[in-house]
Amino acid sequence: MPHTPSPATAVIGAGIAGLACARVLHDAGHPVVLFDKGRGPGGRMSSRRLPVAVVELGAQFFSVRDATFRRQVAAWQAAGCAAPWPEALWQVDERGWRRHHDDLERFIGSPRMSAVTRHLAEGLTLIAGTRIERLTGNAGQWWLVDQHGERHGSFARVVISAPTPQAHALVASHDGALATACEAVIQRPCWAAWALFDEPLPALPGVDDNWQAVRLAPGHGSSPLRFVSRNDRKPGRAAQGESLSLLARIDWSQARLEESPETVAEALLDAFQRALPGDLALPRPRSLGAHRWRYAQPDVFATGEAVNQDYRRSASGLALCGDGWRGPRVEDAWLSGHHLGETLAAAIGEQAGETPAG
Ligand SMILES: Cc1cc2nc3c(=O)[nH]c(=O)nc-3n(C[C@H](O)[C@H](O)[C@H](O)COP(=O)(O)OP(=O)(O)OC[C@H]3O[C@@H](n4cnc5c(N)ncnc54)[C@H](O)[C@@H]3O)c2cc1C
Repeated sequence: MPHTPSPATAVIGAGIAGLACARVLHDAGHPVVLFDKGRGPGGRMSSRRLPVAVVELGAQFFSVRDATFRRQVAAWQAAGCAAPWPEALWQVDERGWRRHHDDLERFIGSPRMSAVTRHLAEGLTLIAGTRIERLTGNAGQWWLVDQHGERHGSFARVVISAPTPQAHALVASHDGALATACEAVIQRPCWAAWALFDEPLPALPGVDDNWQAVRLAPGHGSSPLRFVSRNDRKPGRAAQGESLSLLARIDWSQARLEESPETVAEALLDAFQRALPGDLALPRPRSLGAHRWRYAQPDVFATGEAVNQDYRRSASGLALCGDGWRGPRVEDAWLSGHHLGETLAAAIGEQAGETPAG
């Protein structure tokens, strides 16, 4: 059984929320161990390496509204792992293709989205490829049991940053209040496809050649698409071939949850072809595929009693963070994890009799 010095904190899930929480604890000098079922950190901010290109099938960019998150993004920019993108965002609606302008700041990980989560994970202990299937123990002394039946621990507290249905499975037999809170958050699915081309896309009449991404307005025909981005137009990727990420609408994805990835990818590429101005034909892709996110984004997220709190925490040492507790964006997930980390660090400091500096 792996030995972890107590009283450490376990964080299940190394997406942006779990990493933000672990980062605060680690930087305050508190031991923390992250677990993720994936091969590395990133979760819904991960990037996929295809033979000749890197594509994003999860978050396409992140926007900045909150001052604390803005400072964090500035630090990522200074470290070279984030850059503004897209700077040439287009929108398609019944009037056709138009350049979209607003005041929102948008960024992407550079040279790929996962650079941000890899940067956050630097120096942290992450046990990857480990799906936590259940928790045993009780207040102050928790063990995590993985897919091989191996126990990890003990831990004084456990943070669960997995999407709420997956968090529910872990807390249900231990904490009724946290389980009920998870049930109230609905995470919707999303199909995301990629198409990789050997030749450049045709020039689109009336559209700048350097278009980077396009949003398809809700109600634009019956298109299943909501967002398309050009991966070779992202910072640091000029050398890779032309490739598209094609994101489906949530309701369309929900209705096709059990379709094959091949069928879905064909349908999304076909929808993009139909959204092009004029009678242009796309070249035949050399590689086409799709990924299904069963829990892509909360469209009902936590409200109620704890409406001013973007995480949940119980006296038993269990806590929950992630986008479901705040909103459907990277920024929300980071803020949720960061705020929980600050609360836990302060509580651990108090228990240890530390006086806050200053
Ligand atoms: C297709 C798509 C497009 C999106 N586009 C945007 C966008 O353009 N802009 C934006 O701001 N946001 C976007 N989002 C939303 C954004 O990606 C998420 O809000 C954010 O990344 C959520 O982070 P998180 O840490 O809360 O969850 P996650 O990233 O899901 O992290 C949870 C982690 O927990 C792990 N895990 C789950 N269960 C277990 C277990 N039992 N044991 C171990 N590990 C476990 C998972 O592997 C995962 O790594 C998009 C999401 C999707 C899916």
